[in-house]
Amino acid sequence: TKTYLTGVQTSGMPHIGNYIGAIKPALAAASANDTLYFLADFHSLNSVKDPDRLRNDIRSVAATWLACGLDPQRTVIYRQSSIPEVFELSSILASVTAKGLMNRAHAYKAARDRNEAAGGTDLDAGVNMGLFNYPILMAADILVMEADVVPVGRDQVQHIEYTGDIARAFNHLYGDSYAFPIPQGAYPEGEASILPGIDGRKMSKSYDNHIPIFLPENKLKKLVRRIPTDSTPVEAPKDPDTSVPFQLLAQFAPAERVEPVRKRLEEGGMGWGELKNELFEVLNETFGPMRERYDELVAPGRELDAILTAGAERARERSRATLAKVRTAVGID
Ligand code: ATP
Repeated sequence: TKTYLTGVQTSGMPHIGNYIGAIKPALAAASANDTLYFLADFHSLNSVKDPDRLRNDIRSVAATWLACGLDPQRTVIYRQSSIPEVFELSSILASVTAKGLMNRAHAYKAARDRNEAAGGTDLDAGVNMGLFNYPILMAADILVMEADVVPVGRDQVQHIEYTGDIARAFNHLYGDSYAFPIPQGAYPEGEASILPGIDGRKMSKSYDNHIPIFLPENKLKKLVRRIPTDSTPVEAPKDPDTSVPFQLLAQFAPAERVEPVRKRLEEGGMGWGELKNELFEVLNETFGPMRERYDELVAPGRELDAILTAGAERARERSRATLAKVRTAVGID
């Protein structure tokens, strides 16, 4: 069987766009494959410098995935920071990686382009070595688990190619003793649905236009009410397809609940307020039961820690075995 590996960013509580675009499909895949999920907390360190926030984000993201249905018996879930072999391997991989390859990495180049566009003279301003080395650490995340398939978004194509390049460089030198399997990326097929945020742009944490998955009920209601709508009177016909609340409703409600709403909007007779109430009800029904589980898991207590510790132990069986072979191959045994 093939091993699937996915890294999850630990950047705050996921929003309902992440749920549709990432969590739901990933959980469907996890139930059908041999999967490992890790919380990429060391990757977050490049951007998050507030220890309490980082700590909370890690718990919140782990609790979200578990509350949404990740089964820790089936899927190995662990924190990247619990696997020392990742960092050891990262150093070994750095020694076979050309600096020029890192110079061409998209995230690094984008940071330089931004500095150039802003007229700066130091194009590396604001770039830390963590960002520069990111592709090597990601290669270590993948290779240390000998993952075969890495389901990721299309923005990650380069990182997967780099992992292959780095693995091949290692294999070329040491392949007689040990060779990494070359992982494949698995990219979403067709057009992914992109949820609009409350201001109509793509829902995104960076735009601060997002609806977090597990808001308390009263806050969820208030946020849904805040979605801007025009002043078309209740009785006037409306275009559902340009309406944010309707587009969101269509993602979460079954067709038999969406179609009557579409009809009433098109014919006139349904106001935006009523539409938003309907959206709130649907979101609350979708996420309410999961929210209870989420609240239980994020509360201080041992359950979440115990799940992550057990996951890390299982993951380390793999990483230790890989590192033993790698160390022998390079001569540091
Ligand atoms: P940031 O603003 O920090 O980039 P984000 O809120 O845009 O964060 P990402 O962390 O970039 O979210 O994305 C995580 C995953 O969620 C990706 O797989 C992405 O495709 C998916 N995703 C993000 N936003 C949406 C959205 N609005 N609709 C559908 N899927 C989304």
